[in-house]
Amino acid sequence: MSDDSDALFRCQRCGESYDYSVYQSFESGPPIWSASGGCRGCEGRIEIDGGGLPPAEFRQIIYAREGVHELVIAPGADAISTLRELQAILEIPTKSLAPLAKNVPGPVLWGTPSEMKWLASVLGGRGITASVSPKDPATDSGSLDLKELVPEGWEPSWM
Ligand SMILES: [Zn+2]
Repeated sequence: MSDDSDALFRCQRCGESYDYSVYQSFESGPPIWSASGGCRGCEGRIEIDGGGLPPAEFRQIIYAREGVHELVIAPGADAISTLRELQAILEIPTKSLAPLAKNVPGPVLWGTPSEMKWLASVLGGRGITASVSPKDPATDSGSLDLKELVPEGWEPSWM
């Protein structure tokens, strides 16, 4: 955690922590998120938003409310072109493609519902059928954490 992100979680006026509400939505472009925090100790408020992936702490808040979801590549998908598209969309380093390859077709990635729906939609536009479903926490489907795959600071381009 950098000093920068500490400012997100500690009130600069009184030093108490914030209670956050976090929203992420997906319409025609990549998901955008916004977070609204209220200080537990004073009247301090903080509002932030961004594209790309929300910080880990905010992801936990979204997961708690909406559940962890998986992107599932439909049977019959061509593994090579699916991986190529995922790499192009997410800027996944080549060395990280092998573990993904094992799961095409099938559940490849997990993340927030908005992120997974956006990915399914972009893949659909490129001829690859994918669906989104809640991830069963009791079983390990082999899907990978989107947050761990994309480069630090990644933001989706509008496509
Ligand atoms: Zn405060």
